[in-house]
Amino acid sequence: MVVPPVVLMASENTEREGDVLGLGPKERVRWAKGLDLPRGPVNGTIFYAGEVYPIMGYAEGAFRMMSRLKLDLNSMAKVAPLFKKLGIYRVVARASWSSLNSRYEKALKDAVYVLKKLDVKFGYLYEDEPPSGIALHTYGLLEDFKRYASEVAAKFRELGVSKIITLDPIAATAFKHYYPVFTEFNVKVEHFVQVVARRMAETGAKASLRRKVRVTYHDPCYLARVMGVVDEVRYVLSRLDGVELIEPERHGVNTGCSGDGGLELTQPELARKVSYERVKELAETGASLTLTSCPACIMMLRVGFDDLSIKMDVLDLASLVAEAFRNRLEFEGPQEVSFKEYKVLPDTLRWDLSNLGERLREYTDLCKKCGFCNAVCPTAQALDRLESRSARGRMTLINALVRGEPLSSEKVLDRLYSCVLCGSCSQTCPVGLHVQEIIVYGRAYAIMTGRV
Ligand code: SF4
Ligand code: SF4
Repeated sequence: MVVPPVVLMASENTEREGDVLGLGPKERVRWAKGLDLPRGPVNGTIFYAGEVYPIMGYAEGAFRMMSRLKLDLNSMAKVAPLFKKLGIYRVVARASWSSLNSRYEKALKDAVYVLKKLDVKFGYLYEDEPPSGIALHTYGLLEDFKRYASEVAAKFRELGVSKIITLDPIAATAFKHYYPVFTEFNVKVEHFVQVVARRMAETGAKASLRRKVRVTYHDPCYLARVMGVVDEVRYVLSRLDGVELIEPERHGVNTGCSGDGGLELTQPELARKVSYERVKELAETGASLTLTSCPACIMMLRVGFDDLSIKMDVLDLASLVAEAFRNRLEFEGPQEVSFKEYKVLPDTLRWDLSNLGERLREYTDLCKKCGFCNAVCPTAQALDRLESRSARGRMTLINALVRGEPLSSEKVLDRLYSCVLCGSCSQTCPVGLHVQEIIVYGRAYAIMTGRV
């Protein structure tokens, strides 16, 4: 099996240390220092920081440095374990990128501040917080993910966790959509903005910024398209005086990808190209600030704006809400509001890993080759509609793979790991194929059968 070193590194680090960079639990709880959050669940509820927000600045720093030095991620992944053994990695990361990381740590702190102001009760697990292990799912290591998810589910049961509130839509998606496929999981999961919107409506919370700002909002794929959370964001922003929201052309469930979804690790140059399409669209709104609600989107949008020399700051929605709450917050009493939970994707696929080949053949045989998915596929669009990097091209490749056609492992790797898992294809397919998830199962099949 020749899984790319960068995927192996990310997966091994996730299993050993809980995050793709292998920085470990001590680093991941640093953001909560001084907040005095109750240790353990409160009435079964925890605030879940996850394995991405607390270290995203270090990932951004490494991503930017390697691009500047034109270093290949796979070759870096080969030497990273040595760096780690020598204990250099954490020291270098902290010395070089702490200030970058503070933006992401601040988002977590701001989220906690906002929830407290709205009288939401919760605790925090600190070093006991188990990472979601989403990287294992993303990269198709589904046997590992299945085992890992069972361990995490058992840990939550043991700690008495019955509800998770998280700022991270990637972790929320993992717990809400993927865990129940692979293990028994009865924990309720809500994204921060769902809780905040509901509490603001219940209390009539209204806040004001000290400044006037024209903002645009980038809907993260996982939050809008997968979880169906769209209205809550608009409601929260409508309750902040001083904020004018200008929507980009693609917004809500029809959002565009910022270039993450794991691609930033496997094919960083393509990830950058995808981000360029999106940042240009956001800049066209004329806003001076881009808001979003996903750490990986924040990183890719910041990189994209910088690469194209577009002056635009990118901020987590939680940080702008906290800024307004700190300035002036009043409660006008309950408001009549309802939030729709959008459903634009087919149901999550619940496939048994023991007969993946049959399932994949059955589903990819249904593809009519119409190409509707290609028209919305961000990787194909970033590469002049290149068929081999399109949704239809990946369906064709998986079909050939399960039919046992001769394909080089380089080709399989290149095609399957060039997808950002944005779900636009699944949303568009007239046959109702969940293309995004078929690609994840295709990765798993390729790994399990030694085809990559
Ligand atoms: S194949 Fe689908 S999930 Fe992958 S990048 Fe294209 S549209 Fe997004
Ligand atoms: S939209 Fe669906 S049927 Fe059409 S090419 Fe894409 S996967 Fe196949």
